[in-house]
Amino acid sequence: MPRHTKIISTLGPASSDRDTISALIEAGTDVVRLNFSHGDHETHRTMVATVREEAAKQDRQVTILQDLQGPRIRVSRVKGNSISLVEGSEVVISASHSLDDISYEDHIYISYKALAVDVALGGKILMDDGRLSLTVLSIDGNDVHARVDIGGILKSRKGVNLPHVRTSGPALTEKDLSDLQVGIDLNVDWIALSFVRNETDVVHLRKHLKAAGHRAGIISKIEKPEAFEAIDNILAVSDGIMVARGDLGIEMPMSSIPHAQKTIIHKCLLAGKPVITATQMLESMIEDHVPTRAEASDVANAVLDGTDAVMLSGETAVGQHPASVVAAMARIVTAAEDHWYALPEKSRGLPEGLSAVEDQQDITDAVSLTACELAKNVGARALVCLTASGATARALAKHRPRMPVYAFTDSPSVIGQVGVLWGTKAFQIPFQSDTDAGVRLVQQTLVSNGYIRSGDTIVICAGMPLPRKGRTNLVHVSYVD
Ligand code: PEP
Repeated sequence: MPRHTKIISTLGPASSDRDTISALIEAGTDVVRLNFSHGDHETHRTMVATVREEAAKQDRQVTILQDLQGPRIRVSRVKGNSISLVEGSEVVISASHSLDDISYEDHIYISYKALAVDVALGGKILMDDGRLSLTVLSIDGNDVHARVDIGGILKSRKGVNLPHVRTSGPALTEKDLSDLQVGIDLNVDWIALSFVRNETDVVHLRKHLKAAGHRAGIISKIEKPEAFEAIDNILAVSDGIMVARGDLGIEMPMSSIPHAQKTIIHKCLLAGKPVITATQMLESMIEDHVPTRAEASDVANAVLDGTDAVMLSGETAVGQHPASVVAAMARIVTAAEDHWYALPEKSRGLPEGLSAVEDQQDITDAVSLTACELAKNVGARALVCLTASGATARALAKHRPRMPVYAFTDSPSVIGQVGVLWGTKAFQIPFQSDTDAGVRLVQQTLVSNGYIRSGDTIVICAGMPLPRKGRTNLVHVSYVD
């Protein structure tokens, strides 16, 4: 069986050259993430072109995910690029006019205009991934006076987190809008939106995409406590979710992260929308050749929780062994999946409600559930769907069938989006109006690619009459001659 859980590799200075990109794909990368918090537009354009060329050489589909920085707060440039904040000292923090304002030991500028209005007395201001911690003592006009509780070295442009401040301001900054245009030009498959606060932020991005006539899916990054609280509403308007454990672990108590991860994955499984588990999965491999035991367990546990994809960030972007990290992740994932399938079905921990088709009007959902059960009962080699929007592929994948799901579509954007979806591979075909011809084409494609062979049985879902969009109403058991 091929690996079901998808692997996302973030590209960066350690992985932008052709050889490394090729090695990442060969090692098992299913999706590349372009992190628009770093790098210029030209670099991103070149990386996308290289990924597409190298994927084509290896006859692989690689999905492109653009990650927009969103309203991340940053420290301005600091004097000499490094200042020391001493525990117990007092510092003035104010909103910068530009990130080129110079910060000093006793006066730090950060890129959040509403700082003095939004923070509260006693509130925390965290810098550099939460390594430095300050408490607000008083507010005087635009200046916030704070005490350094945990000091250390502060470098230019480090991130700032204001836990429990409901930050104001637009969901998409000017930088995001210009980056988004690049993503649209590059025809990326998915766009991840950082620091989502509520469903309105997602709807805002959707409007921009619609106006541009672009069909990229939207992944909402859950990295603020308020987003976790609003997860149901955010999930309803998103196409997928990322458990962005990096910032979430700064803004929420670290001890809440495992629960948040499980809750979000559970909800995404029920909704049939892909979910990505991200950040520090194999962090030690930025330098080391092998992961720690705890990291191996973390990756395996994300698989057992039911994640669609696991994501590498610094490990592949700036690490010393990008391709080895992907290979290690693939090994851990495969072993976890083997273990999971060896468990009795009832012990696999899938949400109980998954097998209940709640909305009796949802025929696609009901047919997909039946197809999964049928495929298991007839020992099918594969589940196949003909899908215009990808919805049937999602409805099949959410049941986590053991056999692979092959999605046949006439839409190039569906091909790319399926790349993050658990256990699913997509093929582009012209839709046939004759059912027999459609089944023949599916069989020929899968046989010629070596995915099935004579004597196999496959289960196919489709909408009749072919191609029927928006409603899957047929399950067909097909024997391969
Ligand atoms: C995260 O915070 O976990 C994350 C994935 O976001 P970023 O890498 O953009 O900080």
